[in-house]
Amino acid sequence: MKYISTRGKCSPQTFEEVLLTGLAPDGGLFVPESLPELSCDEIRSYQSLSYPELALKIISPFIGNEIPAGALQVIIEESYREFDHPDIAPLSRLVGNEWILELYHGPTLAFKDFALQVLGRLLDYVLTKKEQRVVILGATSGDTGSAALEGCRHSDHVDIFILHPYKRVSDVQRKQMTTVPGDNVFNLAIEGNFDDCQRIVKAAFTDQAFLPEHRQLVAVNSINWARILMQIVYYFSAALKLGAPDRQVSFSVPTGNFGDVFAGYLAKRMGLPVDRLVVATNQNDILHRFISANEYSTTNLSKTFSPSMDILVSSNFERYLFDLFDLDAIALSDFMNRFGKETLSVSEQQWQRVKDWFDSASVDDDTTCEIIAEVFKESGRLLDPHTAVGVKAARICKDDQTPIITLATAHPAKFSDAIAAAGLALPELPKHLTDLFEREERYTVMPNEITEITNFIKNNCRP
Ligand SMILES: *Cc1c(COP(=O)(O)O)cnc(C)c1O
Repeated sequence: MKYISTRGKCSPQTFEEVLLTGLAPDGGLFVPESLPELSCDEIRSYQSLSYPELALKIISPFIGNEIPAGALQVIIEESYREFDHPDIAPLSRLVGNEWILELYHGPTLAFKDFALQVLGRLLDYVLTKKEQRVVILGATSGDTGSAALEGCRHSDHVDIFILHPYKRVSDVQRKQMTTVPGDNVFNLAIEGNFDDCQRIVKAAFTDQAFLPEHRQLVAVNSINWARILMQIVYYFSAALKLGAPDRQVSFSVPTGNFGDVFAGYLAKRMGLPVDRLVVATNQNDILHRFISANEYSTTNLSKTFSPSMDILVSSNFERYLFDLFDLDAIALSDFMNRFGKETLSVSEQQWQRVKDWFDSASVDDDTTCEIIAEVFKESGRLLDPHTAVGVKAARICKDDQTPIITLATAHPAKFSDAIAAAGLALPELPKHLTDLFEREERYTVMPNEITEITNFIKNNCRP
């Protein structure tokens, strides 16, 4: 399988090459040249597979013979052994035809473990083979950071630098990042917001001359294709449990960078019978405005109870737009270049295609708290605020016939502010994290300044 850039000015790359970079050299994002299409019979034959077996089936065509099947199987099995539920991604009923896909049973309690546990091991495998060292650089609105550190820190081939917005992540999120041990681990708290962190990371990737010789940057954000790839698997897993391919299901996906929901979109294109994909946003509603009103423009950032979705510009949306523009890289580049300067829209026909597959809703903080309280009263289940946004959006958009599955993207103990605001008792951290607040923290506060950051990286890479 080869990968092409959404901006069209870069030769097709292998999976390994795409794994070891971030943005394509032309500033675009890598997407697979084509998608495997699975027949109903094939999907039906997956019904009895365990989660790791299913993962191997789904991702193998995207990797081809670049990594031998046996090695890939070991990587996957080891990755999901870290999860504290035997089903890995258990599906449970909320009420009626509303379902919850619990994606928070990994080591850092958010869905990002599904991809980053594997990504860390894939990197280690490839870098060992190539006898190469790299620098991992990532921006996080809270959950990517800890998941990336957990997934990658054991590799001797990486130095990891994670930028988070100073004082804009939850206490648990910060502690989970800053207490990770290791002399190859660096947390930088940037005096700015998440978009500032993303901007710095993007600039560093564009000009890597500051790095020591023979090093390159590797992205752990969802611009890294391997992350999206691993997330396709749980859409199949959940739909199979509800009777796919013989029954349609819908998904509601709490969305920030559009990575997770893009994986659902790919699952549908690969043949999974998905009816609707609901894009659930908080007050930062650019995607909701686009889907519901064909209006694509930035506004100001709101700080909400669901900080992992406090994002102005969803980086992965470009991957979807590329499809919507029928792989016309010139039209896409033009669209992206005009973005931020004016309010953009797509043609009527394109917008119709958007609405054929996607629904959307924007849920504010008050409503988030209300739904947390409401669901707790209904079923005794405590939702984290991101999941609550998803459940509310599902209730706004659902029909009576089709089961709708909300992706529970984080464990409620990670986001106690919203739980307290909903008037509920705070949940306990799972066992392996009960001493989190006693662990020693290490992080450096840095100005929102690209050269300060690149200097720090240069001076702290291990020789
Ligand atoms: C990252 C994250 C999201 C948003 O996911 P995207 O792939 O960026 O859309 C939602 N909820 C939680 C808890 C997250 O950590």
